[in-house]
Amino acid sequence: MSKVLIIGAGGVGSVVAHKCAMLNEVFTEIMLASRTKRKCDAIASEIKNSFGVEIHTAQVDADKVPELVSLIKTFEPKMVINVALPYQDLTIMDACLETEVHYLDTANYEPIDEAKFEYKWQWAYQDKFKEAGLMALLGCGFDPGVTGVFTAYAQKHHFDEIHYLDIVDCNAGDHGKAFATNFNPEINIREITQNGKYWENGAWKETQPLEIHKPINYPEIGEKESYLLYHEELESLTKNIPHLKRARFWMTFSEQYITHLRVLENVGMTRIDPIMYEGKEIVPLQFLKAVLPEPSSLGEGYQGKTSIGCQIKGVKDGKDATYYVYNNCDHAEVYKEVKAQAVSYTTGVPAMIGAMLMLSNVWMQPGVFNVEEFNPDPFMEALNKYGLPWEEQHNVELPHEYN
Ligand code: NDP
Repeated sequence: MSKVLIIGAGGVGSVVAHKCAMLNEVFTEIMLASRTKRKCDAIASEIKNSFGVEIHTAQVDADKVPELVSLIKTFEPKMVINVALPYQDLTIMDACLETEVHYLDTANYEPIDEAKFEYKWQWAYQDKFKEAGLMALLGCGFDPGVTGVFTAYAQKHHFDEIHYLDIVDCNAGDHGKAFATNFNPEINIREITQNGKYWENGAWKETQPLEIHKPINYPEIGEKESYLLYHEELESLTKNIPHLKRARFWMTFSEQYITHLRVLENVGMTRIDPIMYEGKEIVPLQFLKAVLPEPSSLGEGYQGKTSIGCQIKGVKDGKDATYYVYNNCDHAEVYKEVKAQAVSYTTGVPAMIGAMLMLSNVWMQPGVFNVEEFNPDPFMEALNKYGLPWEEQHNVELPHEYN
C-alpha cells in the first residue's frame, strides 16, 4: 500500500524495520536511513535472512534539512518514522513539510545544549501541518505512546472522570552488564538526572532527581523500588485528559544502576556542557555514550521482563473505580523474534502500529497530535495482534495514597 522511510538505525530503528518488513501488505517498500549506513545494511541483511524481505538503506545526516529533503524526494515515501534522536525532530518535521509527507516519532524535541524536553516546539507546527494537509503523530512508542493509548482507552470505556493517573514502568531484566542503558545512553541519562516533576491540583510540583521513591509490586515480577521521574507524556496527558487531579510517572532502577549513575555524576561524566580535552572540545556525556554498550547490542542473553502500565483511579457511574492496564514483555522472547531487547521492542512495535493506522487512514487527520487524541480501540487491538498483548485489572487496590 505505501512506502515508508525509517530514520535511525539503533535499537528501536531495527525493531521498526523488522516489524514493518513483517507487514508488507501495509509497508510495501521500506527504506532505513541513518547517520551510519553500515548499521542500516546490517539490519537489512538480518531482515533478508529472517523474513526474505529486501529493504533499501541510505546514509543521511538528519540534522541537515537539505539532505533529508533530497533523500525523501528520491525515495518518495508516504511518511517518515523518526526513530533517530530527539535532537532531530524539528529538522525532520521541516523536511516532511517541504516534501509533503506525514511524520511520526517516539520522543519529543530536546535542544542538544539543554536537558529540557517539552512539546512546545513541536506543537508550534500545528498550523503548518494542518494547512499542508499533513499529519504528525508525536510520542508513539511505549512511554510516551502506549501509556497515552491506555489512558484514552480507560477514559473511553471505564471512567466518567479520571482523577489519578500513575504510570508505572518496570524493567526487571538482566543484561549481564555492570552498567548499560536500554535506550540511547545520552537521552536516558539526561532524563534521569533532571529534577523530578509531577502534576497535582492544576500545578507542577518539582522534586530533586530521584528524590521520591517506593516499592511497587509488578505483575509476574514482584516488588521493585520505583522512582518518581518527569516523563514527557505527563505534559500532553494533563492537557488532553480532563478532570485529572494528579498525574505521576514511576520507573524502576536497580541499586547497581543508581550507584553507577551517582558515581558518574559525581565525577562529572554526565555533564552536557563542552570541556576542553587535549585541545579539543568534548561533551563528557557524549564521550560516556561512546564507551557504553549500544542499546541494540544488549539483546543476546538478556533475561527477564519489562512491565509498563497505567494505574488509574476515578469515578464511573457515580462510584469510585480503579483500573490497571499493562503489558509485560519478555526480553528473551523478543530476541527470538527480532534479535532485539524488550525496551527497543516495546518502543518499535507501537511506532509501527501508529504508522500502520495512519497509512490505512484509521488515524489520519491533518495537524500535530499526541496519541491519546485518537480512538484507542484499533491501537489496543493491534497491540494484541503485533506482539504487545495487554492485561487489565478492575477495582484492585493500587499502591498509592489518594486524598
Ligand atoms: P540508539 O542510540 O540505539 O539509536 C539512535 C540512532 O539514531 C542511531 O542509529 C544513530 O546513528 C541515529 N542518529 C543519531 N543522530 C543522527 C543524525 N543526526 N542523523 C541520522 N541518524 C542519527 O537509540 P534507540 O534506538 O534506543 O532510541 C531511538 C529513539 O527512540 C530515541 O529518540 C529515544 O529517545 C526513543 N525512545 C522512545 C521510547 C518510548 O517509549 N517512547 C523508549 C525508548 C527510546 P549512529 O548509529 O550513527 O549513532
